[in-house]
Amino acid sequence: MPRISLEFYPPKDEEQRAQLDRTVARLKSHAPAFVSVTFGAGGSTLSYTPETVRRLRQEHGLDAVPHLSCMGGTRTELRELLKLYRALGCRRIVALRGDLPSGMARTGEFRHARDLVAFIREEHGDHFRIEVACYPEMHPQAEDALADLRHFRAKVEAGADGAITQYFFNADAYFRFVDEARRAGVTVPIVPGIMPIANFAQLRRFSEACGAEIPRWIAKRMQAYGDDAKAVREFGADVVAAMCRRLLEGGAPELHFYTLNLARPTEAVLSRLA
Ligand code: FAD
Repeated sequence: MPRISLEFYPPKDEEQRAQLDRTVARLKSHAPAFVSVTFGAGGSTLSYTPETVRRLRQEHGLDAVPHLSCMGGTRTELRELLKLYRALGCRRIVALRGDLPSGMARTGEFRHARDLVAFIREEHGDHFRIEVACYPEMHPQAEDALADLRHFRAKVEAGADGAITQYFFNADAYFRFVDEARRAGVTVPIVPGIMPIANFAQLRRFSEACGAEIPRWIAKRMQAYGDDAKAVREFGADVVAAMCRRLLEGGAPELHFYTLNLARPTEAVLSRLA
């Protein structure tokens, strides 16, 4: 089995919490190297990530890793969060700029993920292993693909130890990106982020927002399946598993799954890889 990590979002109520517990109980058997917990922007949502990290570590015995974003507030607030994570035993952080929900004013003192990486290094030396995000199909707000690559390199130069990519459905985009990063002098592991296909309409919306391309042949097939949820699931799992196989054969060091707190879509891919 390939080495994997899993990503969850922090539940906000009892029902979501129970769902996460069920999902974690099932996916645990795949022995993830770590599980990460995303970070929302602003206000009360800030406390959900630390609480979920705590529960996953203490109640599920997993190496739970927090995401932290520039939207996490002032230096003082970020400093407090880092202290809390250190006290919980965390040795790894996923450091991001973050996205703001539309209509929300910018919060936080740092503008780019690079600044947050530098801040974590200043405050905690080498205590945390720092992962950053990168974009084989380019971040949607970047001036162009080369500028995006330079900004990625700057995050690594500021102290990141590894990177996880935005999801994609073109393995060649990943291979080319890794080649270009290596030529630009980036040597850290670049782990592909994998989005199992659960709900195609939702995936379309996400993909438009984050700039991930859904190849036409996949979209056309999905459209043809319409409401046949089983066919969508089976085809989605086949396509994603085939891509994962190619990625691993082509040298991807491990796979990071965006689970969306659901067990079945990720399991369907993993069972095909076994
Ligand atoms: P940055 O690296 O700061 O880049 C953002 C944009 O700014 C890019 O276009 C980049 O090219 C550009 N840029 C960078 N530096 C400069 C510079 N010096 N001058 C000009 N332009 C510059 N979002 C959340 O809110 N919470 C999460 O938990 C979360 N987890 C994620 C996990 C992964 C693995 C990934 C891939 C994404 C995640 N995101 C999350 C989404 C992420 O926050 C968004 O994609 C966000 O828009 C960019 O974040 P970043 O860390 O890549 O930002």
